[in-house]
Amino acid sequence: MPKGVSKTPKETSWKRSEAQRGEKNHRFGKHHSEEEKQNLSESLKGEKSPHFGNRFSAEHRKKISETRKRLFIEKKLIPPNLGKTFSEELKNKLRKNHADFKGEKHPRWKGGEIRINCKICGKEKTFPVSTIKKGQGKFCSQKCFSIWNIKHMKKKDTSIELAVENELKRRGIPYLKQVPIKGIALVDFLLPNKIIIQADGDYWHSRKKNKGKDISQDTELYFKNYKVFRFTETEINKSAKKCINKVMNIGN
Ligand SMILES: [Zn+2]
Repeated sequence: MPKGVSKTPKETSWKRSEAQRGEKNHRFGKHHSEEEKQNLSESLKGEKSPHFGNRFSAEHRKKISETRKRLFIEKKLIPPNLGKTFSEELKNKLRKNHADFKGEKHPRWKGGEIRINCKICGKEKTFPVSTIKKGQGKFCSQKCFSIWNIKHMKKKDTSIELAVENELKRRGIPYLKQVPIKGIALVDFLLPNKIIIQADGDYWHSRKKNKGKDISQDTELYFKNYKVFRFTETEINKSAKKCINKVMNIGN
C-alpha cells in the first residue's frame, strides 16, 4: 500500500466524520478561551512540536516548489501577497525586524569573520569564525601550512627521540643514532644484536600512506634478521622506561 493511504474503507471513514459534524460534535458551539489558545500554541512551539527538527528531503522540497510554480502559472494558486501593498508602518516594522536579526542577533549567527596573521609569513587573511573554531585558519596558504608542518614534526620527533636516548644512556645500553640500513631505511636507534628502535611521531606515522611504508620497511628488516621495535609518540611520552623495558624484555 502506498504511503499516506488510510486502511479504513472510504465509506466507513466518511460515516465516522459525518457522525461528528456540526451539532453532533462534542465541541459544537464551544470556543477556546484566549488563555487556552495561548497554552495550546505554547505547547507546540519549537522543540515541543512533533515536527521539530524534521526536514523535508531536498527532493521533496524541489517537488513542492515545482508544484507551486506550476499552479501559479495555471493560476490555480494565488501568491499570498498578490496585489497587496505594505503600509509604511508595516514596512518600518519589517525594517526594524530585519535590523534586529542582522549579524550577531541572527539565531544562526556563526561569529562572522576575523583577520588573522599567518603563523609562517605573517600575511593577513580573513577567516570565518567557524573555520577557526574547527582549528583551521592559521595559515595564508597551503605552502605556509606545509612549512609549519615540517618544522613542527621535526621538533616533536626530536623530543621523543631524546626521551628514548636518555633512557638508553641511563641504563648504559650502547646505541647508534640515525643509522642507514643499506637500501631499506634510516633507523632511529641501532642496538647490539641487530635490535632497532623506531620512535614514531603520532601525526606522521598515523597517516595511511606512511603506515604502509612502515610495515614494508619492518618486513624487509625482519628478513635481514633485524628485530624492530616501534614506539609511538604517545607511548614514549607516557613512559620511555616502559618502552625500553619491552626492548630489554624486562617485566613483560
Ligand atoms: Zn603565509
